[in-house]
Amino acid sequence: MSVVVGIDLGTTNSVVSYLKRGRAEVIPIDGKNIFPSVLSIRDGEIIVGSQAKARMMLSPETSVCSTKRDMGKDIAYDLGTEMFTPEDVAYYILKTIKEKAGSILEEKIDQAVITVPAYFTSEQREATKRAAERAGLNVLRLMPEPTAAALDYGIDQQRDQIIMVYDLGGGTFDISIMKVDKNEFEVLAVDGNSRLGGDDFDELICSRIYDKINDELGEDITSKKDKKYISALMKIRENAEKAKMDLSDLEEVEIIIPNLIDDYSFEMTLTRDEFNQLVEPLMEETIDKIYNVLKLANLTRDDIDRVLLVGGSTKMPIVKEKVRDSVKDPYVAPNVDEVVSRGAAIMAASLCVPETYDMAQINNEVNRTNEVNRVNEINGVNLDKKIIVKEKVVFTYGIDMLDENRKLYFRPIIKRGSTLPAKGAVLGYTSTPLQKSVVITIYRGESKSVKENQYLGELELDIVNVSEKNVPVCALFEIDENMIITFTSIEIPMTEEYRELMDSSGNDGGNMDVDLINKYLLEGKLKGKKIKIDAKAHLK
Ligand code: ADP
Ligand code: MG
Repeated sequence: MSVVVGIDLGTTNSVVSYLKRGRAEVIPIDGKNIFPSVLSIRDGEIIVGSQAKARMMLSPETSVCSTKRDMGKDIAYDLGTEMFTPEDVAYYILKTIKEKAGSILEEKIDQAVITVPAYFTSEQREATKRAAERAGLNVLRLMPEPTAAALDYGIDQQRDQIIMVYDLGGGTFDISIMKVDKNEFEVLAVDGNSRLGGDDFDELICSRIYDKINDELGEDITSKKDKKYISALMKIRENAEKAKMDLSDLEEVEIIIPNLIDDYSFEMTLTRDEFNQLVEPLMEETIDKIYNVLKLANLTRDDIDRVLLVGGSTKMPIVKEKVRDSVKDPYVAPNVDEVVSRGAAIMAASLCVPETYDMAQINNEVNRTNEVNRVNEINGVNLDKKIIVKEKVVFTYGIDMLDENRKLYFRPIIKRGSTLPAKGAVLGYTSTPLQKSVVITIYRGESKSVKENQYLGELELDIVNVSEKNVPVCALFEIDENMIITFTSIEIPMTEEYRELMDSSGNDGGNMDVDLINKYLLEGKLKGKKIKIDAKAHLK
């Protein structure tokens, strides 16, 4: 039998979970629940995870981390012997997770729900999906991280709720507001900072350490290029992160680094109060974003029913305090860095019920072990009803068209705020007699002028029934639940049979019946040309 898993492909760390006896459980890779999202080359061999993270310290020029920030962009990292795109790095991480988790469970893993930030564009989602498919994973769903977290928190399904998810990871901060209505999850607004995370908190402790060294040795070690200084900087960073983590449980820590530079040993005490003061500006920045996301969603703090904390950095007590002061007392899971992955595992199971999960068998097992008594309910989520994740498109998508004065304008087809999956089609005409082909240009944006919108790509369609008259051509947009866009252009023959399609439209580029067009395409009655939007052309 094969197992379906949920994977949180994180900027700093990735986590994989599956459903065991009706409970989401993390699969420890290399003995740890958290798998660093780092790739490194060692003696020509590609390594990922904890080993690569350790390697990063010794050999930063052949290692790379936080590549998720560049996902979907047309860039590559030069690691000396080889170049890697962000998608390649994701591929190696997913492949390793798939293989190692599979051998731990002694099961084949070939299907997964993978989480992505709620603000990820379709290009970034498509890149994530491609990486997973290369790794041999069939992607059941790409799911927004805050929704996955809400699933794991076992949101009370009985009533409508507005939920805020505060996710502070290693390198990114995401804040989202969601509406949960029974089994339906909808992201209402997102904001955040893709350059703010736990690393910045570490960096502030490092600065404090550099200052103290400067006082004691009269040396600014950050400006030195010698190997011994570089290795000292690495040690400082490692110790700073450790001190930060220890301060989540202790009121005071000693930072001791023996023989840091030659026979100079470093020693410093840091209290939690001092740390909190040090990081105040970073915390304030996250609080400003809270107010901003409320504004985006047109809500006030009183409208928020619950606040969920997600991400390793929310283990810092100051986060809880600040969130309590600015919104309300937050819910905190025991392992905030695992909730996204566990939620994804619940979603994966829900998508596979009843095909993959034999509920009767699981029930038997459960009764025997008496661990859980209702398995159609996972972490409070009722699996009798399917979990529905609603997402909205964040841009308006459309094409260029000519108006009566033969001037180009932007014709929206799928409007911003439409719920996914979304589709739409409009009818246009060739503009000159005996025209042999049409080129339709695709844009996204909110302006009436095509020039002010973002160019996404274009599609040239050869006209089969070349005519003195203007030939009707349909432009069809489809955005699936993974936010991946397919654009199709279709020539509509001027026969009686297709009159109904055109009647539903109008020659001003009115909307068309998408389902009917798709039916005709499937039956081969209409012929179209499709493109997936080129991810790389416009993210630079
Ligand atoms: P991401 O979502 O970016 O992949 P995680 O949610 O795994 O990352 O968070 C990683 C961050 O959490 C790191 O900066 C790490 O130092 C921080 N972190 C982990 N445990 C603690 C802790 N106990 N106290 C403070 N910070 C922590
Ligand atoms: Mg995360």
